Amino acid sequence: MDRPFVFINSAMSADGKLSTKERKQVRISGKLDFERVDELRARADAIMVGIGTVLSDDPSLTVKSPERRAARKAAGKSENPARIIVDSSARTPLDADVFKKGNGIRIIAVSSSAPAESLEKLKEKAIVIQTGTKKVDLPELVRKLKGIGINTLMVEGGATLNWGMLSAGLVDEIYTFVGNLIIGGATSPTFTDGEGFSEAEILELELLSAEKIEDGLLLKWKVKDKRGI
Ligand code: NAP
Repeated sequence: MDRPFVFINSAMSADGKLSTKERKQVRISGKLDFERVDELRARADAIMVGIGTVLSDDPSLTVKSPERRAARKAAGKSENPARIIVDSSARTPLDADVFKKGNGIRIIAVSSSAPAESLEKLKEKAIVIQTGTKKVDLPELVRKLKGIGINTLMVEGGATLNWGMLSAGLVDEIYTFVGNLIIGGATSPTFTDGEGFSEAEILELELLSAEKIEDGLLLKWKVKDKRGI
């Protein structure tokens, strides 16, 4: 395949929301799910988020367990997977936690519309990959990621990046933890926002498994349609 194996992992409320109307991170899952996500991170070559998530949550995207970091190191890898931010206009703050915490490479994917001055500063902190004119060209980005040895890519949202990846046909599997809460709100981000599919375009999934974890449900889906690369 001309791109990495790509999966999305997200936690959502029982009504499909990723966070509140303030777009701030909320605790949707518990300790067991936290460990599951940490394990997924530790096994991935790279973790990718959209700039919206960086600006609202400022995640470090590191592997939290010292044992898992040590196991990566023992296998000849960096302690953390590569951390990738999809950020067309190079808005990633230079003091973002993703730069401050943990070792391992950081990649900022920008478009050709990104201001040169911001790019120069980001290049001191990260590898910058430029694709697309206004928005990051996601198919080209994932091809380039494969070219630099990223074979397993974990996408951790948010809502708009999930849409970008799914609508471009770039996702193989989806793992959603559905937590026992209702968030509501027409403007709260859902698992997939963006433009939305019309009826003829709807993406079909195959349910791989459904497992009760604490007070929620972990659903694993395979994306059936092969519309991308
Ligand atoms: P997002 O999906 O993190 O980032 C979206 C941004 O990525 C776009 O606005 C765009 O900004 C950039 N982008 C560049 N090229 C793109 C492309 N081709 N397709 C799509 N996006 C592209 O932001 P969000 O939708 O605002 O989601 C953030 C929310 O999700 C926050 O509330 C956060 O707390 C929540 N979240 C929840 C979870 C969870 O598991 N519960 C996980 C992650 C995030 P530019 O045009 O500036 O490039």
